[in-house]
Amino acid sequence: MMHANQQDLIALLRDAGIREDVLAIMETVPRELFVDAATLHQAFENIPLPIGWDQTISQPYIVGKMTEALWQSSMRRVLEIGTGSGYQAAILSQCAGEVYTLERVQSLHAKAKARLQSMALSNVHVFHADGSKGMPDVAPFDGILVTAAMLEVPHVLLSQLAIDGRLVAPVGKPGAQTLQVITRTPLGFEMEEIEDVRFVPCREGVE
Ligand code: SAH
Repeated sequence: MMHANQQDLIALLRDAGIREDVLAIMETVPRELFVDAATLHQAFENIPLPIGWDQTISQPYIVGKMTEALWQSSMRRVLEIGTGSGYQAAILSQCAGEVYTLERVQSLHAKAKARLQSMALSNVHVFHADGSKGMPDVAPFDGILVTAAMLEVPHVLLSQLAIDGRLVAPVGKPGAQTLQVITRTPLGFEMEEIEDVRFVPCREGVE
C-alpha cells in the first residue's frame, strides 16, 4: 500500500485553505521525525497521533491554523506551552527570532529536546516546566501559543504579551473548545474565536 508523503499532506492543507507562507514553512519540517515508530506510516495523514503519556502530536491542519493565527512579521520572542513532540516548536523556529517552549511531562520534554537539538534548531529553547504561568523572566512575548486546552486564559499569561502581541489557545471544556486569538492593544485585549477544536487538557504541575 502506498502511504501519503509530505507533498500530499501539504497539498491537502492547501486545499483546506492554509496560507502559502505557512505551507512554505511546514514543507521544510518533516512530520515523520516527530511521530512514534508505531505510527510512522500515518505521519503524513491529517490526523493527530499518539506520542505516549496520553498526549498527541496535533493534527497538521490545526498546526497550520494556529501558526497562521499567531504569525506576524518580525516576531522576536514566542512562547509555546505544551512542547509535546516538538513539531509545532520546529515550525515556530522559522517564524520568530527565539522560541521558548515548555512541557510538563519529563519524558516528552527530553525526547523533544533531543530531536530539536539533532535538527540544529538553535533558536528553540526547551524547558521542563508547568507552562500555565508562562515565563515572566523572558516576557514580553510577541506571540504565545498554547497547545493544551485551558478552561480560561489566565491573566498571568496575557500580561506577558507585548503590545500587538497575540495569544492563540484552545479554550473550553472537553467537547466544547474553540480556538481563541487574543490580541493585546494599547487599551486592553481583543478576542476572536476562529474554529472549534479538540485538545488534551492543560494540567498543573510537572511529572
Ligand atoms: N505542540 C505539540 C502538541 C502537544 S499536545 C506538538 O507539536 O507535538 C499538548 C502537550 O501539552 C502535551 O505534551 C502535554 O503534556 C502538555 N501540557 C499540558 N499541560 C501543560 C502545562 N501546564 N505546561 C506545559 N505543558 C503542558
